[in-house]
Amino acid sequence: MSCFSRGPSSVSAWSCKCAENPQPSNSKPITTFRRSTFPFRILLSLSAAGAVAFLGRRVRAQQKSIEGKFLMSAQQSDIQKHWKIIDSHVHVWASPEEAKTFPYFPGQEPATIGSSDLLLKAMEEGGVDGALIVQQISHMFDHSYLSRVLQMNPGKFVGCCLANPSDGVEGVSELEGLVTKEGYQAVRFNPYLWPSNQKMTNAVGKALFAKAGELGILVGFMCFKGLLQHIEDIEQLCGEFPRTRVLIDHLGFCKPPLNDSEMRAWECLLGLSKYPQVYVKLSAFFRTSREQFPYEDLWPLFRTIIATFGPKRLLWGSDFPFVVDECGYTNARRVLELAKYDIGITDEDMQWIMGETAMQLFKGRWVPV
Ligand SMILES: [Zn+2]
Repeated sequence: MSCFSRGPSSVSAWSCKCAENPQPSNSKPITTFRRSTFPFRILLSLSAAGAVAFLGRRVRAQQKSIEGKFLMSAQQSDIQKHWKIIDSHVHVWASPEEAKTFPYFPGQEPATIGSSDLLLKAMEEGGVDGALIVQQISHMFDHSYLSRVLQMNPGKFVGCCLANPSDGVEGVSELEGLVTKEGYQAVRFNPYLWPSNQKMTNAVGKALFAKAGELGILVGFMCFKGLLQHIEDIEQLCGEFPRTRVLIDHLGFCKPPLNDSEMRAWECLLGLSKYPQVYVKLSAFFRTSREQFPYEDLWPLFRTIIATFGPKRLLWGSDFPFVVDECGYTNARRVLELAKYDIGITDEDMQWIMGETAMQLFKGRWVPV
């Protein structure tokens, strides 16, 4: 059943949903208080309701204090770092100098620098261990620059190629070659590259999607113009070819819902959780937030999507290099760290979202710590 068959929802319904669950069950446990400072005598003197309110105030005060400490030190999160941090969404393209050898696709010359050198530097500064590099339109279907970057950085990067759905092109055998010969582990479906008036569920779309499942690679959907335009195609493909695992980019481009259409899109994204093969990228926050860093209007959405999909089906991503001129790369990596105390993400949840989910999906591609 498509999410379209549900009745219209209101923004207030969404707000209520959040208010119903201010502290999910996986919130930071109160046992983290130090024994020597915790006032048990006060707690025992209160009624049950009073005790809950008291503990709530204590937790919130502790969260504020922790968040304050975090903000004072950009390196704070590194103290707890004992797992790999994997960025599930970056792009690279040739520098103007490199473009002499690896030319841009005509008309798609990039406006910013997105070379692999810059990415490696940003990752090092941000404490990020590995990344999934997604081919985008600056080089269109010419993967030679990205393939070279992958070859030069084994164990650092995994490649997501760009599906070629053009008429009269052997897109499926192109995909097979990129996977079997060049080692790509995912393929991007950019619906705006399909011939006009054709959908991702046309013959070549289905063949590409089925082939991805056969090859054991993931399909990433880029719904730049909104999830509602593409949800029916995505659901149809997931229903017909359940073997193919799916990545939804950037929270499905869902903004914090302020009207019925945005609410429907958000519910459609959550509805995709019924397909166990679907994973969602918590990425490119600057694209969906209406605020500046640290994008607090997205935090309630994080809480809901974690509760719906579970952290093992979510992946953090930055959207380098576009993120560099927004909040900066290192800050992009810090957003969930800043949100975690407010929305009750446990350390284990963080571990999965910030890297472990990617590690499991692309097994053996990044060497475990
Ligand atoms: Zn992107």
